[in-house]
Amino acid sequence: MWRTIGQKSTIEYLSRSVAEGSTHHAYLFLGPAHTGKRTLAIDLACALNCDSNEAPCGTCRPCNRILEGKHADIHDITLDDSGTPEDTEVEEEGRRRRTRILTEQIEDLQHASTLPPYEGRFKVMMVEHADRMTDAAANRILKVLEEPPPRVVWMLLAENVDRLLETVVSRCQRIDVQTMPAAQLERHLSEACTAPPEQAKLISRISLGRVGWALQALKDDSLLSERISQVEGAIQLPSMTYAARFDFSRELDAQYRRDPGSVRETLEQWTTWWRDLMLVKTGCADSVINIDYVNDMNEQAQRLSLEQIRDYIWKLNEAAKDLDLNVIPRLVFDSLVYTIPRIAKHAGGTGGLPAVLRDRSETK
Ligand SMILES: [Zn+2]
Repeated sequence: MWRTIGQKSTIEYLSRSVAEGSTHHAYLFLGPAHTGKRTLAIDLACALNCDSNEAPCGTCRPCNRILEGKHADIHDITLDDSGTPEDTEVEEEGRRRRTRILTEQIEDLQHASTLPPYEGRFKVMMVEHADRMTDAAANRILKVLEEPPPRVVWMLLAENVDRLLETVVSRCQRIDVQTMPAAQLERHLSEACTAPPEQAKLISRISLGRVGWALQALKDDSLLSERISQVEGAIQLPSMTYAARFDFSRELDAQYRRDPGSVRETLEQWTTWWRDLMLVKTGCADSVINIDYVNDMNEQAQRLSLEQIRDYIWKLNEAAKDLDLNVIPRLVFDSLVYTIPRIAKHAGGTGGLPAVLRDRSETK
């Protein structure tokens, strides 16, 4: 059975394609991070190679080998986040690998795709973060998609279609992977995962409908702690001195070099915070995401004008776009922390704050 949760019509479509032998030579799975793109792609890889009539069964030998990551015909590449070398030149190369899919990675896949399947019916070439390919890598994959070898299926996984070449998109069957409505996700968490009601309610909201994030948060407290740090950062920053804000920017920059995804997640959490302030300000408090911070939200919303909130949401959106365009990250972060509207010191606790934020709030 498909392990993918939700995505009913997509699963019906893919099942039918596999059963009828009408699958495409390339798929583009598009959707926000942690929505289940990879799970869906692996499910499809199983379905293509499954020995059962009810593909993907998840229990036959090919399915098992794929799920265990041992199948010889499933090749995948992603951003390389291994190691943090100290040598500056090596570090620069490391940063490039952590933020971009490179031509040589695509060439390796291309070479593997020219050989016939070794143990299964279909070879699967999976490119995670396909929207982070360098221009040269994107042009290389374009050539591959123009003349696909038989019995090879390419699966590109991406968050942002605007970062992909139109010609690459047009050569793939596009599969939009949707976020799940909060009520449906809350039901799934409490019924299928037996999460306590309050926890199911909170996680379904703060996950922003991203099923993968929600399931991970149920198992792994560190995800929730991380999110608390991010939200409390958003709460504290407006009352920080400019010196403290720039220290914070430096920390963000260092973290971005090590792990760009975690900083993007931080900016997304800040955006949900500022959207919540907008909802409170416009009388729509029932729809806020951060339901565990309602008091802080009301207090901060009172101290800010609607215009200030709207402008800063715009600023956060621009920052995300600038990072995509490879603007120097430190400039993006400096500008972000500098332009947060200043308000008097927040009265709440700082227990969940990351080290960089503690004791840096304004004292007057
Ligand atoms: Zn199977």
